[in-house]
Amino acid sequence: MKKSLEIKRSKDLSSYCKRNLTNRDMAERHFPNDMPNYLPEITTAVDEAATERSKDSLANLLSLPYNRLSERLKTSALELKHRVVTETWELSGKRVHDYTVYTGALGTAYLLFKAYQATNNENDLKLCSDIVRACDSASRDSGRVTFICGRAGVCALGAVVAKHAGDERLLDSYLTQFKEKIKLPSDLPYELLYGRAGFLWACSFLNKHIGKETISAGRMRAVVDEIIKGGKRLAHRDKCSLMYEWHGKKYWGAAHGMAGIMHVLMDMELKPNEVEDVKGTLRYMIKNRFPSGNYPSSEGSESDRLVHWCHGAPGVALTLVKAAEVFGDQEFLQAAMDAAEVVWNRGLLKRVGICHGISGNTYVFLSLYRLTGNVQYLYRAKAFACFLHEKAQKLISEGKMHGGDRPCSLFEGVGGMAYLFFDMIDPSEASCQNLKLLFI
Ligand SMILES: [Zn+2]
Repeated sequence: MKKSLEIKRSKDLSSYCKRNLTNRDMAERHFPNDMPNYLPEITTAVDEAATERSKDSLANLLSLPYNRLSERLKTSALELKHRVVTETWELSGKRVHDYTVYTGALGTAYLLFKAYQATNNENDLKLCSDIVRACDSASRDSGRVTFICGRAGVCALGAVVAKHAGDERLLDSYLTQFKEKIKLPSDLPYELLYGRAGFLWACSFLNKHIGKETISAGRMRAVVDEIIKGGKRLAHRDKCSLMYEWHGKKYWGAAHGMAGIMHVLMDMELKPNEVEDVKGTLRYMIKNRFPSGNYPSSEGSESDRLVHWCHGAPGVALTLVKAAEVFGDQEFLQAAMDAAEVVWNRGLLKRVGICHGISGNTYVFLSLYRLTGNVQYLYRAKAFACFLHEKAQKLISEGKMHGGDRPCSLFEGVGGMAYLFFDMIDPSEASCQNLKLLFI
């Protein structure tokens, strides 16, 4: 009974990602991007004073020297964090109904950990630890095994926070839970939100934050083997090297499809033939993208509608940036830059969050800036972030932008916007180990 309920919920999540935009045409899906393609930052005090007097607040913000913009975004990130904590934790009586990173309390804890990394405020770390503890209690009977939507996220974040707090006993306790209690059922899917790739992400998170071999190479290798084997089983003979299915569809995007799975695989120790499988899969996707440059949400789909992290060019772009970084191939960098053009033109979505909102799309530019050092991409990241900063609240209050069904969550709401603003404080650090596998 419980299992069927969980499956139903996961189907709901997928349809939700798409449903929010169905029955509207492409023009209504996103705001037209009429921001300049590039604006240099101002450099002199005289220019700065003139800009401050200008009426266009978005243009003003975009022209500021980066250190000034960074201060504004940091202030905004801290205010948003306060609001998220109040609404998702304090006003709920500190009870956890949804424990996940995606839409639940663990997303708030993750944001607090991010704030702690940005400011070193011990209160954020303490509160983060309290919320993870509540999530731990709430998720003991959960069969979910991933970072974003499952128990692995609770144990992994719990262990990392305990390490930062210097609490060895708690660290051991979370690690023991992770290693001994999280079992991958044989019928587990492969994708990022509910499947094997999502479990591997949690392993990777632990090894990066706590130390190599915290989760043994052997444990991770066994899961990589299953993912490669599963991908070959469904692969189109001679066409695509690896292919996966989730609830009857062969998804391409980051949340449920190939982009998310390939991203996680590239963070693993791969054998030479597996490297070729990953490259082959990415080449298949590039070759079969839409003429517009966008990517289908699933195999065979001819609907060029979604430009989200979950479905479409943004999630694929982040995986291509990762491929360019890991393999050093120009073809992947070029494809990532092509996808970024789609995001620039059609990615100013009418939602704020990470999964299918402007915050998630902004990471495409941030990751390309970090990889290439090209200031055009930093400008574009600033442009999307400043649009959120200057306009999102007003547009939401006017009903022109959707606040999200879970308006303070990390993946659907302003929690994601706060997370992005923390990353924008120092854009060269945007790889930020936390969401590295997801965004960079
Ligand atoms: Zn989504």
